[in-house]
Amino acid sequence: MAQDILCEVSSCVHNISNENKCGATQIYVVNHRDKNASNSGETDCKTFEPADL
Ligand code: SF4
Repeated sequence: MAQDILCEVSSCVHNISNENKCGATQIYVVNHRDKNASNSGETDCKTFEPADL
């Protein structure tokens, strides 16, 4: 089970500023556009919520 999730998406409300870490209790990662992923670029974080930037 992942405990430290690194993430560079600073526009997400769950992203911990300046640490490139996710502060969410859990995340849900899905296939990009409902196509089975064959590399990491074809996955998406569905837990993303936009931060007030
Ligand atoms: S919820 Fe997803 S996009 Fe947002 S910080 Fe966590 S891993 Fe990154």
